[in-house]
Amino acid sequence: MTKPKIRVALTIAGSDSGGGAGIQADLRTFAFHCVHGTSAITCVTAQNTLGVTRVDALPAAAVIAQIQAVVEDIGIQAAKTGMLLNQEIITAVAQQVRKLEIQNLVVDPVMVSRTGAQLIDDAAVVSLRESLIPLATVVTPNKYEAQLLSGLEIHNIDDMRAAAGQIYQLGAKAVLVKGGGMAGNLRGVDVWFDGQHWETLTTMQVDTDNTHGTGCTLAAAIAAHLALGDNTLTAVRRAKEYVTTALQYALDIGNGQGPVGHF
Ligand code: PLP
Repeated sequence: MTKPKIRVALTIAGSDSGGGAGIQADLRTFAFHCVHGTSAITCVTAQNTLGVTRVDALPAAAVIAQIQAVVEDIGIQAAKTGMLLNQEIITAVAQQVRKLEIQNLVVDPVMVSRTGAQLIDDAAVVSLRESLIPLATVVTPNKYEAQLLSGLEIHNIDDMRAAAGQIYQLGAKAVLVKGGGMAGNLRGVDVWFDGQHWETLTTMQVDTDNTHGTGCTLAAAIAAHLALGDNTLTAVRRAKEYVTTALQYALDIGNGQGPVGHF
């Protein structure tokens, strides 16, 4: 008897003890899409809705071993990267993606928080730009990350388009510049560029302060749809719809900024 085709996705990301972002958000998103979720943990954060109190990186060798264990036995149809933290881990992940010929790679270039704080050092930014982004099926920077990667300032939708064009030159097959960190009515607007077509993706704005995990959830949902066989733009459109729903179910937990919900 042949086994039923179970779709598998891999998240390569950090753990969020508060359960809002990172590995925890990714696995929930995969499960919601009926895709089996596997993980390679890069770092462990101690955090809650008020903030991060500690970050411990895993050795790059431990990240490599997790990716190899999953890919060589179970096999994956898509992967996403999130918080990779340092240059050593980023370089190791890029090597594994090449060596294991991982297809359908969503790179969420977690470098700057939605509030503008830089989360990884400058050497890690260079590695992300030079070694990992060129391997991406789609890269999903927020406004600040897009500024860092393109060297352009972003104030409006034309700037988002210009930044997407610059980032495309780094070698990713497609770029999605997210408007989540933008002011006013650009908050729900993302710009897509695949080297040939520009798309402006809009959605209804959801009025909530509980947006933690939005970027992780979007990238994981794109990976889930790629694993299910969608083309990249369709995967992005469907993932954006999923995030809009997740924002509507955002959780008012803790004393700070709560996460998006998956119900
Ligand atoms: N990954 C981890 C482990 C995090 O702690 C965070 C933010 O705190 C992120 C990713 C990025 O989160 P978001 O989806 O809100 O951009």
